[in-house]
Amino acid sequence: MSQVVLTVSPSIMNEMKKKYNSHLRDKQPPGSVFVAKTSNCTITGYKSGKVMFQGGAAEQEAKRWQSSGTLSPKKPGTKKKTVGDHQYAPPPTISTLSAIGSDEVGTGDFFGPMTVVAAYVDKKQMPLLKELGVRDSKGMKDPEIIEIARNLIKTIPYSLLILPNEKYNSMQRKGMNQGKMKALLHNQAIHNVARKVDAYDAILIDQFAKPEIYFNYLKGQSTVIKENVYFATKAEEIHLAVAAASIIARYSFVMEIDRLGKENNVKLPKGAGPAVDSAAAKLIQKHGDQVLEKIAKMHFANSIKAKKIADQARN
Ligand code: MG
Repeated sequence: MSQVVLTVSPSIMNEMKKKYNSHLRDKQPPGSVFVAKTSNCTITGYKSGKVMFQGGAAEQEAKRWQSSGTLSPKKPGTKKKTVGDHQYAPPPTISTLSAIGSDEVGTGDFFGPMTVVAAYVDKKQMPLLKELGVRDSKGMKDPEIIEIARNLIKTIPYSLLILPNEKYNSMQRKGMNQGKMKALLHNQAIHNVARKVDAYDAILIDQFAKPEIYFNYLKGQSTVIKENVYFATKAEEIHLAVAAASIIARYSFVMEIDRLGKENNVKLPKGAGPAVDSAAAKLIQKHGDQVLEKIAKMHFANSIKAKKIADQARN
């Protein structure tokens, strides 16, 4: 049996559904938009934008739509416009789809909590979000992040998960690595947002681990969101939902690290460099060894360096 897969835009998907109206089937597999059965071809359209043609007339049927979609698997010699090289690579149309995006911050910072956000961006809201300044936030300074985020959190559905360092340290000591913590939080945040919205076309995760490893980390969880999930590195450049998630996460992190600093009367720098060592040493001198446990990631080398600096200052 031959099989052809096309990736099409949501409007072509609608057109297809209309075209095959008289052949539509009631029974639909999960994640699908429609299933149609002609005398010699079964056509299944998925929320992800993929359309599968199966049966004797698959190629013939797919050809009718080929100019409106991207053919996959690719023909040899043609360059397929996808991001990444795995089966979870997003379709070329991804940036135009209504999607949930997720991203995290605070994993390379000694101070402040690991923070994960999932956010939903409907395609109808894309012009508004662009108007608000939502884009890849890598070059943005904190004041801009804060301003955009304050508008964003009033505009789109999202889930913000903050892992307090005390909890992080205890999980880490039990042997859980950062990758697994991230996976658990991403899955949870996405689940939270998926429950808030009626429908979405895709989920795009800013890739921090190979998809197989990500799903391995989630083994044994009661809910694992798998349907229509795509992974890409630098995903904040690919979809506004990831850009938005990233901005909200950074905003929350900036606020948290600022709050923790004020509570302890020491300004807490981001990252894990020498400025972090001396701030941590100051904290120990002011409040004792235990202070770091609640506000920092103890397995970072900064803990040891800070203690040394504090000890030297004492003698
Ligand atoms: Mg990221």
